[in-house]
Amino acid sequence: MIKKLLDKIFKPKSKKNEADKTTKATPSRPILGTKRTAKKGRNHDKHDALIIQHKTHQIDRNLLSTAAQKTIDGLQKAGFEAYIVGGAVRDLLLSRIPKDFDVATDATPEEVNRVFRRSRIIGRRFRLVHVLFGDETIEVSTFRGSHLESSGDSKVNDSGRIIRDNVFGSIVDDAVRRDFTANALYYDPTSQEVLDFHQGYADIQAGILRMIGKPETRYAEDPVRMLRVVRLSAKLGLKIDNATKAPIAKLADLLQDVPPSRLFDEMLKLFLSGHAIESVTALREQHLHHGLLPMLDVVLEQPMGERFVMLALKNTDDRILSGKSANPSFLFAALLWHEVLATWQTYKSEMPPIPALHTAMSEVIASQAEKLAIHNRYTATMKEIWGLQPRFEQRAGKRPFGLLIHPRYRAAYDFLLLRCESGELPMELAEWWTAFAEAEGEARTAMLQADTTPKKRKKRSRKKPATSAAPEA
Ligand code: ATP
Ligand code: MG
Repeated sequence: MIKKLLDKIFKPKSKKNEADKTTKATPSRPILGTKRTAKKGRNHDKHDALIIQHKTHQIDRNLLSTAAQKTIDGLQKAGFEAYIVGGAVRDLLLSRIPKDFDVATDATPEEVNRVFRRSRIIGRRFRLVHVLFGDETIEVSTFRGSHLESSGDSKVNDSGRIIRDNVFGSIVDDAVRRDFTANALYYDPTSQEVLDFHQGYADIQAGILRMIGKPETRYAEDPVRMLRVVRLSAKLGLKIDNATKAPIAKLADLLQDVPPSRLFDEMLKLFLSGHAIESVTALREQHLHHGLLPMLDVVLEQPMGERFVMLALKNTDDRILSGKSANPSFLFAALLWHEVLATWQTYKSEMPPIPALHTAMSEVIASQAEKLAIHNRYTATMKEIWGLQPRFEQRAGKRPFGLLIHPRYRAAYDFLLLRCESGELPMELAEWWTAFAEAEGEARTAMLQADTTPKKRKKRSRKKPATSAAPEA
């Protein structure tokens, strides 16, 4: 009912869309597509877009999620332009299954919000709309304008970093603000055309990741793009274009300015991409790891630490590539373990081992947080995984039974395996725990080691002399 009403309200725009659809140019570039003048956006000049037809790009629109399809339909029926944009188009062209779908439109967030009953406007830096369909959410963004324009709500700091950019614009402006040419393609599943403003299609075909515009300026605007280029190239097997790669090493320090929580989000994406090993290796090659994971700098420089971290990353990559989930707490616990070990060692001379471990854990997390704020929900689990490690060395009495039923036993045991595989502890310890967990009844009890820890003697209560006895009430 409401939708019908909305359809009526927006009908005039629908007509505009229909008219545009008939203005397609005849094919003049058969290899990639045809050039045509893009739809005129709000207060913007006409620009050329390359139109890639279905017979060339061969994207199967059935690969779009139903939610993505419905979002596009809803917006287009209401008279707006709407495209699948960014990573999803790139992934479809690379014959990969996109992990999510983003939509770009000329409708304002309020207009999008009015089209979809189950939607909400989010975001402070740039307002977006989340359209909800069951457990899938489609992120819809209004075409963004140039932050260099004097009008609108935009701001750049002294080093050229964009700190606020609430400016709407045309599709042409929107494309130029995206990071890489491969990420600036707009797919309309209705016409099955891909709009390409920056030769992204050709770059994808050539396997190249290329920055739109002048790389130095674009990294200065947003230093996180340096991490994105490394991550996307590792994940997608694309080669970084030389001019895009060249300025990275010299601009690496700009990452120091990025808020720690944003760095954490980006590093999490990198570690959980299924290509963490390649990404970390590339970060080191580009000198980007310094200061990012400050502890990691040190750890990667010691053979034992490096071996442990690489094993943990390999473990995570294998899990993700075989469709399993990976626990970020486990991963960050692994990345920082050798730093915890070293700090623990220093505190052991000042206090008993267990308090020393807990002091070391808190110290490592606190100093790490200055650069990369690991969310609290992860640090609690990291501490549990670390804190359980000494208990694996106790194989007598009732203690091993207690550890087996601890809620974090599984993660802590997997962590122990990594420690043994990396050579930090004898493999025999891991084998013992594997066998102990599998054994049952008598066999399990028979595995226990002789209890050599001195038994705590019960204090005998000495009879107090009758004179000092408390007076009876
Ligand atoms: P992934 O597959 O990892 O999600 P993605 O390219 O889709 O990769 P998102 O973070 O989901 O990454 O971003 C969606 C799109 O938004 C990108 O494809 C790109 O067009 C644009 N974008 C994201 N981050 C930036 C940035 N820092 N600068 C410019 N454009 C960006
Ligand atoms: Mg994405």
